[in-house]
Amino acid sequence: MARYTGPSCRICRKEGDALFLKGARCYTDKCAFKKRPRIPGQHGPTKMNKKHTGYEVQLRAKQKVRKIYGLLEAAFRLYYDRAVSQSGNSGHNLLTLLEKRLDNVVYRLGFGMSRSQARMWVTHGHFMVNGKPVDIPSYSLRPGDTVTVRESSSLKQTLKDILDKTSSRDKSSWLEIDREAMKGRFLNVPQREELDPKLQESLIIEYYSR
Ligand code: SF4
Repeated sequence: MARYTGPSCRICRKEGDALFLKGARCYTDKCAFKKRPRIPGQHGPTKMNKKHTGYEVQLRAKQKVRKIYGLLEAAFRLYYDRAVSQSGNSGHNLLTLLEKRLDNVVYRLGFGMSRSQARMWVTHGHFMVNGKPVDIPSYSLRPGDTVTVRESSSLKQTLKDILDKTSSRDKSSWLEIDREAMKGRFLNVPQREELDPKLQESLIIEYYSR
């Protein structure tokens, strides 16, 4: 399946929630979802009033999480397979596996205006994990791991500016950031109550176990 290259705001409107895919604009009144919180297209309003089947509800719950983390279906399915093979609650396992991704942590620490930007910085080799360069966005962090900007990065000032811009963003309690040192730490695996309550991970498990 090809990567979606259309307008990000359309995804938010389709999923019925602000997914913060676009960066700075998402935090302003220019956000398309704030202005037009309905399904895009000529028949959008009709679709919104339609009664959804159980399958549609599960599908939308899955698509929403997949799009928040910017994954293709095949990659997302692999996370599901890993989540159900682990002990404990599969839904929570799935969300924590996604949260442990390096691109997600770089975004949550505030080095990216969006997850897609954070992924680009990681792919271009601007970050280190525990002092070693890592350019794999899906790299899975473990409690205690540190994430730092590479000494040789040509984007140090840009990343510092982004850190300043994102300083007012909600902090993730399972992460620690030292803005001066441009260094973050993955403290622990987040508990379910620390994650977005609007995510319906149990519906995702139901969707795949049909
Ligand atoms: Fe979604 Fe609003 Fe950001 Fe567009 S600006 S991607 S609608 S949150």
